[in-house]
Amino acid sequence: MNQRARFSVVYYLWVFLLILFLESMFFSGPSVKEIPYSEFLTRVGKGEVKAIVLTQDEIYGEMKGPDDDGEKKAGSKADSIETSDTRTPWTLSWAALEGWFVAKKNEAKELQAERKAAIERQFTVIPLQDDDLVETLQTHGVEFRAKIESHFFRNLFFDWIIPFGILFLVWGFIMRRMGQGPSALNIGKSKAKVYEADPENKVHFADVAGVDEAIEETQEVVSFLKEPQKFQRLGAKLPTGVLLVGPPGTGKTLLAKAVAGEAGVPFFNLSGSDFVEMFVGVGAARVRDLFAEARKKAPCIVFIDELDAIGRSRGGQPGMAQGGFDERENTLNQLLVELDGFDGRSNVVIMGATNRPEVLDKALLRPGRFDRQILVDRPDREGRQAIFRLHSRKLDLDDDVDLDKMGAQTPGFVGADIANICNEAALLASRREHDKVQMVDFQDAFERVIGGLERKGRVLNPAEKRIVAYHESGHALVGYFTPGTDPVEKISIVPRGRGALGYTLQSPTEDRYLMSRAELLGRIRTLLGGRAAEQVVFDQVSTGASDDLEKATKIARSMLTVYGMSERLPNLSLVEQEEGFLGLGPQQAARSSEVEKVIAEEQLELIRRSYEEAQALLVERRDQLEALASRLLDREKLDAKDLEEILGPRPRPEDPAQP
Ligand code: ADP
Ligand code: ZN
Repeated sequence: MNQRARFSVVYYLWVFLLILFLESMFFSGPSVKEIPYSEFLTRVGKGEVKAIVLTQDEIYGEMKGPDDDGEKKAGSKADSIETSDTRTPWTLSWAALEGWFVAKKNEAKELQAERKAAIERQFTVIPLQDDDLVETLQTHGVEFRAKIESHFFRNLFFDWIIPFGILFLVWGFIMRRMGQGPSALNIGKSKAKVYEADPENKVHFADVAGVDEAIEETQEVVSFLKEPQKFQRLGAKLPTGVLLVGPPGTGKTLLAKAVAGEAGVPFFNLSGSDFVEMFVGVGAARVRDLFAEARKKAPCIVFIDELDAIGRSRGGQPGMAQGGFDERENTLNQLLVELDGFDGRSNVVIMGATNRPEVLDKALLRPGRFDRQILVDRPDREGRQAIFRLHSRKLDLDDDVDLDKMGAQTPGFVGADIANICNEAALLASRREHDKVQMVDFQDAFERVIGGLERKGRVLNPAEKRIVAYHESGHALVGYFTPGTDPVEKISIVPRGRGALGYTLQSPTEDRYLMSRAELLGRIRTLLGGRAAEQVVFDQVSTGASDDLEKATKIARSMLTVYGMSERLPNLSLVEQEEGFLGLGPQQAARSSEVEKVIAEEQLELIRRSYEEAQALLVERRDQLEALASRLLDREKLDAKDLEEILGPRPRPEDPAQP
């Protein structure tokens, strides 16, 4: 329990005690003993009871005292003292004064005793339904009267204020512990404004830099929204869902806003995590509200940030509370229903953003839903330089500020990081009382920001960057000189998504139906080229190749077991079936351990040979490897043209393939 929670426990305890205390102050009378009804009747029967007061839920009674038998004696003792001594104290002698005090003291004692006796004579009884009571009382000469006792305030207090007070306190305590604060009381209310269209949306494409490709792709959405008739005239359907995919801070929200700004339409903005509420039904209801509102304002853009918060694929999230899971599923289903409700003529474009498209439910990505994906990747050097220029537009820069240099030294940074540096630099400059923002301010701001990012593992340090550059160059070079493999389109050492430190893009990657043995071997060799380059240059290998190795191993295994390309067991399908058709169990006996051994040996041999070939190629062309890596370090991205420039013309596929 944290400090705050402990404080509130103590606090509520005090309130509770205070209530108990007040209760005893106001509502408990002198302690009068309660007697059973039977005893009450007996006493009445014996004539011991003097008078009673009947109320709705209690009988107050008084027994006869010593004075009540027969006629009242003439004057009480107290009276006699009073009358016997009428002098005022100050006219008396000392002795007389003392006598007076003693008398007074006795008097007080007697009074107290009398009062005590009176209380002892009193009693209470819980009444029974007794029709004969009045008669009995009359027979025994008991004085009785009824009284209507108003318990209104008392009842109000005990039956309403205290229970509700306690409930409220407990509720508040729980809410506070859950970190919601008492404001969780006005649930739904506080969110009402979240997705109000921003009438002052002045963001345009000019405010987004470094993601030109994404801008280009969203351009189409803008024209759809601007002139829907033009497209509908020929019966084309407008896109409903556009999914922006990219790491946080690359400007996805900004881009969606810019699309709305360019098209001059309202922009509804809501985060996926806002939908997921702890109360059942709220998330789905919110989705309904949002889309109802959007339809009224069409044409417009609805932007849902963190789409994965709702759109995570259904089906088993271990460790997730069942309630929360069901609720998210409801919300997701409602979202799907709403997406399907757009027939392409409602002029509402839904843009979603996520940095984890792989966890999204497949249903969300189907045609008619978020079927268009736009990559908003980390910017390259030129992109970063453009973002630096954009964000320092409004700053008063000194002449020595070199924004291009800043852009060059910030690989891996996203737009939000750069905006952060620019702002931090301006703050530093003001604190240092510089007239203008100077380069030192930028440098110090950069160091401040990069410290945080390196800790989070989001940017590479220079040594890592070198390794990645050689690794990727190795892939590219081996691929380039292996006929039959797909041409290399792009190499990059800008960290991308999760896991991949750099990448070498070969296209086409998927749409191949037939591949020869040589092609598959070439592919393995290219995959191993990354690690081979590390080996050649640094004489040691890194963990960066795990993904390559996995792919290469898989290809090698498939060659031997699926495609029958084994040398020692040629033309055999050695597929191990996991589960037979219709769950009839394995249809094929497990491979014998002998066959398994042969496959393993041959696989090892195949990988070893490919690795050696890659290494030999790299040693032979070491100069070109160096040239590629250094240009990659400088530019971060290379395309097919750069490759041709450095490596010369690529050998054509018809040329005799290497073994
Ligand atoms: P995301 O939605 O991808 O997490 P945001 O759009 O919220 O990122 O970006 C946060 C801020 O970072 C923006 O408001 C903007 O100031 C800055 N920013 C991010 N990317 C860019 C970019 N490409 N161009 C200009 N500014 C950017
Ligand atoms: Zn690799």
